[in-house]
Amino acid sequence: MRQVDVCVVGAGPVGGSLACLLAERGIATAVVDRAALPPMEHPDFDGRAYAIAAGSRRVLESAGLWARLPFPAGPIRDIRVSDGKVGRPASRLFLHFDSAEANAEAFGWMVEARSLRMALNARMAELPQLSVHAPADVQVNRTAEGCVVRIAGGETFAARLVIAAEGRQSALREQAGIRVTRLPYGQTGIVCAIAHELPHNGTALEHFLPAGPFAQLPMAPTEGAPHLSAIVWTERDVQARRLVAMDDAGFTREAARRLGDHLGQIRLLGRRWHYPLGALIAHRWIDTRLALVGDAAHGIHPIAGQGLNLGFRDVAALSELLVEAVTLGEDPGNSALLRRYQAARRPDTMLMLAATDGLDRLFSTNNPLIRAARDIGIASVHRMPRLKRMFMQKAMGASPAAM
Ligand SMILES: Cc1cc2nc3c(=O)[nH]c(=O)nc-3n(C[C@H](O)[C@H](O)[C@H](O)COP(=O)(O)OP(=O)(O)OC[C@H]3O[C@@H](n4cnc5c(N)ncnc54)[C@H](O)[C@@H]3O)c2cc1C
Repeated sequence: MRQVDVCVVGAGPVGGSLACLLAERGIATAVVDRAALPPMEHPDFDGRAYAIAAGSRRVLESAGLWARLPFPAGPIRDIRVSDGKVGRPASRLFLHFDSAEANAEAFGWMVEARSLRMALNARMAELPQLSVHAPADVQVNRTAEGCVVRIAGGETFAARLVIAAEGRQSALREQAGIRVTRLPYGQTGIVCAIAHELPHNGTALEHFLPAGPFAQLPMAPTEGAPHLSAIVWTERDVQARRLVAMDDAGFTREAARRLGDHLGQIRLLGRRWHYPLGALIAHRWIDTRLALVGDAAHGIHPIAGQGLNLGFRDVAALSELLVEAVTLGEDPGNSALLRRYQAARRPDTMLMLAATDGLDRLFSTNNPLIRAARDIGIASVHRMPRLKRMFMQKAMGASPAAM
């Protein structure tokens, strides 16, 4: 039976990047996804994008993915945070984060989802240490001695470690009997892209509204859209259903009311997407020869655009431990290594989960007392450069230790 060091189940952005990074470092790796890979490559602009922090960019560079992005990433140079009510101008107490103040080229980069998919597919196909199985159903048997991976209708191979990267509905997590705590928000995330009349100048806007945040994120231009932004818009479920059912003209009008007029006329580009929002945390991230990464281990509110960035931090931590173990001739599935991975990643993730949950509760309210307290809070962040710097470093993906 063929033997690999690591089998990654799930070739989404987290699993795919981890598989590429491990294979790039000479670790014999297999990656399996139940979906077919070519259809994941969206030939047309589809309106979805990720905000990739500086730390995540380094992960993508090490995996050989950043250089293979077929479309340029749009830098986020400034972030403006404001609050208000729909149809009314933003409050005067707003926060402005400038990447120059943080001595950084950018806080992060907007990367189209299809661009990352295409880079992943291209990179996975060219790494000799990586075998790719998709579309494929997989069955995994794990024991203290090792794992046997059976691809339905195909090969059976042995692996020393299996990594669950199948997203929020992870089957491997469930089979391992790992419990999860879920926190539904009763909110829906609406995602789309807009072309606009005026340039965004690399500025992102996070506009806090009583039903949830409305974010405009600057993207690099595409053919026919010299000024382009992604929109991540949170609404209560009932209102979101109404918005999603609207025709393009009505939907665009509602988006413009929340955005304000600083970008001039706006036009919808690509599709609109919507996702029920909820947080999720797995009680354990490890089991016998099993590690959970990305959304299989945690899911957070998109309020700060950090969900995938957390997954990339899992990739960085776990790949470092695995490369070290394989280089030293150790077993990459050993339980001490897995415990070190869990200890390295869980506290940071819990902090981010609590922070995004708290931000959502603090801002998605009409309570006048909370609104007043929050505006005072925002004003005081302005007066505290160290606190402001900490927020900026967090946005760039620095770990708490680095701050
Ligand atoms: C509205 C919204 C906006 C967001 N915006 C941002 C943002 O700007 N920045 C950011 O960092 N994050 C953002 N996120 C979060 C981000 O989308 C997720 O964190 C990210 O997609 C998780 O990646 P993943 O690879 O862990 O899981 P997934 O993307 O869910 O990928 C899982 C993969 O596993 C495969 N799979 C599933 N089950 C099986 C199985 N049984 N066997 C084999 N394969 C399987 C699937 O086909 C898929 O390819 C946002 C989320 C939402 C809802």
